[in-house]
Amino acid sequence: MNVASTRGGAAELPLGDALLGGTAPDGGLFVPASFPRGEARNPRGGSLADSALAVLAPFFAGDTLEPELPAMVAEAFTFPAPLVPLRNRGDFMVELFHGPTAAFKDFGARFLAACGRRLHPPSHGTRIVLVATSGDTGAAVAAAFHRMPGVRVVLLYPDGRVSPRQAHQLGAFADNVTALRVAGAFDDCQAMVKSAFADPELASLRLTSANSISLGRLLPQLAYHAHAAWSSGGTLNLVVPTGNLGNALAALWARELGAPVGDVVLATNANQTLPEFFQGGVYRGRPSVPTLANAMDVGDPSNFERLAWMFPDPAVLRRRVRARSASDEHISRTIQQGERRHGQVFCPHTAAGVWVLEQIRSAAGGGIGAWAVVATAHPAKFEGIVEPLVGHRVDVPPALAELLTRPSRAERLAADPGALRRWLLDHADG
Ligand SMILES: *Cc1c(COP(=O)(O)O)cnc(C)c1O
Repeated sequence: MNVASTRGGAAELPLGDALLGGTAPDGGLFVPASFPRGEARNPRGGSLADSALAVLAPFFAGDTLEPELPAMVAEAFTFPAPLVPLRNRGDFMVELFHGPTAAFKDFGARFLAACGRRLHPPSHGTRIVLVATSGDTGAAVAAAFHRMPGVRVVLLYPDGRVSPRQAHQLGAFADNVTALRVAGAFDDCQAMVKSAFADPELASLRLTSANSISLGRLLPQLAYHAHAAWSSGGTLNLVVPTGNLGNALAALWARELGAPVGDVVLATNANQTLPEFFQGGVYRGRPSVPTLANAMDVGDPSNFERLAWMFPDPAVLRRRVRARSASDEHISRTIQQGERRHGQVFCPHTAAGVWVLEQIRSAAGGGIGAWAVVATAHPAKFEGIVEPLVGHRVDVPPALAELLTRPSRAERLAADPGALRRWLLDHADG
């Protein structure tokens, strides 16, 4: 399959040339040149990896990586994404937190690493994967590229603005992974990374992004939505906790591909850009506001451009997708009542989704079919928020527990592009 730009101003490329990339040459985002609508075949009763192969095959058809796809899927989809019933009949949770860093970003990061292993073998020279992270992305990327020959990983995160366990995770990898704690906000980290990529003096370092807008991370995320819908045996409606719109876009693309996904409702936190648009307002990006669901603190979601490309008429887009915002108070209350009402402890992001599903259920009465909330992270990652609300300790999943027993180390860096450039030049050879 070839890819084109959402803005239509760039030449088409084979998928393999765009998998690792960020933006298209005209500043847009890469999208399929022609979307393989309805082309995914239900692997009936298969594993998550079987579903992944079914949804990825139409995109990789004809690409040089096509023969490698089964091996890439086998490398990336090494843990399950079970559809778990909640207490209320017809309500489910798709658990995406069984990977090495206990959040859904493990799926995208591991598939991206499988792409990178083939597209940039170590014989092409050492690369530096440079990532700004607000918490979950950096750990997932570090875990996926840890000890990979020919790759170094440099993570930038805002010091003091990620949860203590997220911070520990980021600094716990060592070997080819370095964590830099930046004296600033996530936006500063992102600006520093952006300026490093644009810096001609750093070109020889072969900086590589592991950006959430890359197709190598987006496409594998279709797999678990399609798998959950196929496993439901009917049509499955989804509530997707949303920040940068990567996970929700994947749910919509899975639906276009023919998986039996019904309604898709975005659950945002107090950041209002998307709810305002979907209630009929104009799209207006803005700085983010901090909330309890910090991985969704996004004021100008990059993937909105792909959504608008898919449904160019805003009226149609608003019929195909809905959005609702959960306040910090809604999130706290949902975590607090989660065990009694649903038999589950939720992370703050998942709780935003559960609150939205509760609103949908109470507005509709009965007869609205099966719904699943996409559970984006394990609650133990956010114990500082969750444990006081539920009143007891939350068990830590084994992979996360193992990381938390390792020593953790991060170097401090000023929130300044010049500081990052100096750091990269000083550490370029080792
Ligand atoms: C990244 C993340 C989100 C937001 O996902 P997007 O793809 O950016 O919309 C939600 N929850 C958790 C736990 C995350 O790490």
